[in-house]
Amino acid sequence: MPSYEDLESRIIDSGECTVCGACVVACPTAHVKLIDGRPRRPKRAMDCVGCSICYEACYMLRHSLIKDIEGAVIGRGKKESVGLYMRAVLARTTDDVVADRCQDGGVVTTLLLYALESGIMDGVLVVGRDGWTPTAYVARTREEIMEAAGTKYGVVPVLSKLREAVVDHGLTKIWVVGSPCHIQSIRYLKHKGLPLATSVQVMVGLFCRENYEYNCMEELVRAQGVEMSQVDRLEVYDEFRVYADGNRMDLPVTDIKDCVPRHCLVCRDFAAELADIAAGSGGSYGGRSTVIVRSVKGEEVFAGMEQSGLISTESDGYAPEISEIAERKSEKAKQTGDIFRLAEKGLNEKEISDRLGITERRVSHRLRGARRNTS
Ligand SMILES: Cc1cc2nc3c(=O)[nH]c(=O)nc-3n(C[C@H](O)[C@H](O)[C@H](O)COP(=O)(O)OP(=O)(O)OC[C@H]3O[C@@H](n4cnc5c(N)ncnc54)[C@H](O)[C@@H]3O)c2cc1C
Ligand code: SF4
Ligand code: SF4
Ligand code: SF4
Repeated sequence: MPSYEDLESRIIDSGECTVCGACVVACPTAHVKLIDGRPRRPKRAMDCVGCSICYEACYMLRHSLIKDIEGAVIGRGKKESVGLYMRAVLARTTDDVVADRCQDGGVVTTLLLYALESGIMDGVLVVGRDGWTPTAYVARTREEIMEAAGTKYGVVPVLSKLREAVVDHGLTKIWVVGSPCHIQSIRYLKHKGLPLATSVQVMVGLFCRENYEYNCMEELVRAQGVEMSQVDRLEVYDEFRVYADGNRMDLPVTDIKDCVPRHCLVCRDFAAELADIAAGSGGSYGGRSTVIVRSVKGEEVFAGMEQSGLISTESDGYAPEISEIAERKSEKAKQTGDIFRLAEKGLNEKEISDRLGITERRVSHRLRGARRNTS
């Protein structure tokens, strides 16, 4: 039977762990904890009952199963680079307070408020912030949902809050908002029949090209003479934008690339392909969001919100730009995965570059990212 040690060596110490929080919440004796930003079992064998539930909870060990889950939950049609979906629109909130606090079109926050106030959801796992450090929590009120509006960069174990939602708060109609990795993980837990996951009913995914280690990003900002406490907003588009004390400072996007964790370098999911509804700024303009509605459940709730007038929608279909971003992410991740595999086999940078037909500089850059994140 696989053990915690197997999970540690195969996923956590290899740098593949996305810190989704699933193994933390799944351990029945609460022995897997987050230590220095990674899951760890601090107490040794004496306290661990050897049930292997933590190992079984890790979706990173079961890539092929994710495809089957997609077939069962979303559908089996012809797949595009953004995944399977029912419809795609541009949308934005009609609520001025949300518009003021949200990241893009405010679709995510508006959807959560609609779900809470119409009684189809009794709580949601979201990401707020302590300063700018991203922090996962369970939101059960309008105020708590509003607190989570806006994007925070940094790795966050969103699913680690599931036990609190189910056990401490007794919630039965739970939603989860998260990056594509969080959504893959919670889909997997539900598929495996983890009792805590049965209360999760709707999953809202965010588009994601990559994430950044919070401490690394903080150092970058500080090097410009700005403290995170002065920062009002962060954005990563063609440049890394830092809004502080009423000014906007644009840093080259290449600077923040050094903060991308290893697991993001090999992640292929841009558009949260297993979410009921996915949203992002890509392909939208003028404070709108691109929204991709995937499942029957997703369509039911999104149409309900649309009819209530809480959002305005336009256009049918998504901009080609979204497909390009999704394809680029997937191809780059595949190539990076190949580089890592060849390096593990002992090939040097020159040999890898010859084998894959890419420049040595690129090989070197990707390997540097991997070393930084596993050291
Ligand atoms: C790490 C990261 C990278 C992203 N990269 C892209 C990208 O490359 N292209 C693109 O089009 N969009 C990207 N997005 C999505 C984008 O930033 C917005 O979240 C999305 O457009 C929804 O906007 P909104 O106004 O509807 O959300 P809002 O109404 O502002 O709601 C934001 C929601 O996001 C959740 N959230 C915030 N930070 C995190 C986090 N770190 N992890 C999980 N959940 C979080 C909150 O719980 C909140 O409910 C990224 C988001 C994140 C978190
Ligand atoms: S008790 Fe079970 S789930 Fe917890 S660490 Fe040990 S093997 Fe993993
Ligand atoms: S379940 Fe999530 S947090 Fe735990 S090892 Fe796997 S990827 Fe990491
Ligand atoms: S790039 Fe992938 S692994 Fe990294 S935060 Fe985004 S979805 Fe998660």
